[in-house]
Amino acid sequence: MSEDSVSGCFTFLRRRRPGPVRRALEPATEASSPHTHSHADDSIAYTGCCDFSLPSSDQKLWLEGKELPAYSWGGYAFDEAATRTVEETIEGISGELRKLSLKIHDRPELAFQERYAHDVLTEFMESHGFKVVRHYLGLETAWLATISVGSGGRTLGFNSEMDALPGIGHACGHNLIAIGGVAAAIGVATALKKHNLPGTVSLIGTPAEEGGGGKIILLNKGAYKDFAACLMIHPVPGPANSTGLGSSLAVQRLEAEFAGHTAHASAAPWEGRNALDAAFVSYTAISALRQQVKPTHRIHGIVGGRDWAANIIPDYAKLSYGIRAPTHKEVGALEPRVKACFEAGAHATNTKLTYNAGTALYDLFQNDALSSEYRRTWEGRYGRAVATGPSGSLGGSTDFGNISYAVPGLHPAYAIPTVENGGNHTRSFADSAATPEAHTATIYASKGIALAGLRVLLDKDFADKVMEDFKAGKPQ
Ligand SMILES: [Zn+2]
Ligand SMILES: [Zn+2]
Repeated sequence: MSEDSVSGCFTFLRRRRPGPVRRALEPATEASSPHTHSHADDSIAYTGCCDFSLPSSDQKLWLEGKELPAYSWGGYAFDEAATRTVEETIEGISGELRKLSLKIHDRPELAFQERYAHDVLTEFMESHGFKVVRHYLGLETAWLATISVGSGGRTLGFNSEMDALPGIGHACGHNLIAIGGVAAAIGVATALKKHNLPGTVSLIGTPAEEGGGGKIILLNKGAYKDFAACLMIHPVPGPANSTGLGSSLAVQRLEAEFAGHTAHASAAPWEGRNALDAAFVSYTAISALRQQVKPTHRIHGIVGGRDWAANIIPDYAKLSYGIRAPTHKEVGALEPRVKACFEAGAHATNTKLTYNAGTALYDLFQNDALSSEYRRTWEGRYGRAVATGPSGSLGGSTDFGNISYAVPGLHPAYAIPTVENGGNHTRSFADSAATPEAHTATIYASKGIALAGLRVLLDKDFADKVMEDFKAGKPQ
């Protein structure tokens, strides 16, 4: 995949996905055997889970949070015994995870170059009893760590991102995402083993979220085909102890190249065909178009070129754009309108236009049943806040969006302490991603996805509901 193919992440939308009122599954009643796959009949009515989220980027600071219990306080759990094993396991390896996180943080590696992270993470998973496949599916820095218990169980997937950003290190906190996946996978696998529950836990180390679409390459190679669900977490700015389950924007990256003809800019300008003018006509046309698109759409780009001088009519220019909207479908509708602007530039200047399209990133399709389970844990078990920020804020994009269209997915955003104007993709965020407070927040978020994932393995009715929600709500 070309390195210009996709773009990275994001803060999250507070978009609420329209849909019918859904019925959420209730936890097993106390009378139930801990490992029977039943649920109570008195299920509650529950509206879609995306009615809450982190606040918008202008309200993103980690405000003073109330004192929270350091550990679970006996709230809801589908299976208390297995849940406690997950929690105690994750808490028990928290110190090791902290060291692992800082090792990765201190050696930031760019997309597809996460060799050190690949090595330390695979070594860690092996030391915790996982079967590891290094250089998974032909990608040098991808890996798979798996544990299976019994037979006939479902397969649960987690993802660990690893890549950093040019010049600013782990400014998206992927060191935290890496250990979040590790924590969840080890927590759930330990519960399966200890309680002899059938199932498989698969953690994929996914390269190149920032500009390489590593997950999409792995998806196309079949890495996700056996997953009953796949979960991961992502740190963002936000109020203390909060989480969000909004979506992200779908994006199509598009390069438009203009080929003209050089000429002396004063002696014989009529012999030239000006590619830079083509770029500027296009740029201006897109600026005009921007007024006629929805507030939730984004069209952003830059001009590039080579061999330019004021006394030469430029024969080459390139526009690199991102076309974003709340859904993949909307991006599809917006793209031809942007292309018409590029064509206008080419027509006006008699230059030749060619396109290079990147791989499309889909919006996040957060699974309703997984979301409600995660929310129950976050609120009911840990007493943590689920923020209710303003709706309609905008965010970036992630290659996990494509995963969420392929299998039931969950990608919660969770807050870590940040400074003002210190959100994702800033140097300050890289500093934030190394703090003990960020580590603690990551431990909670990883327990949240671990327990939602655990129920997929333990509760067939819940797994069916997850798939039902996936099929019913999947955007067309
Ligand atoms: Zn990012
Ligand atoms: Zn990121």
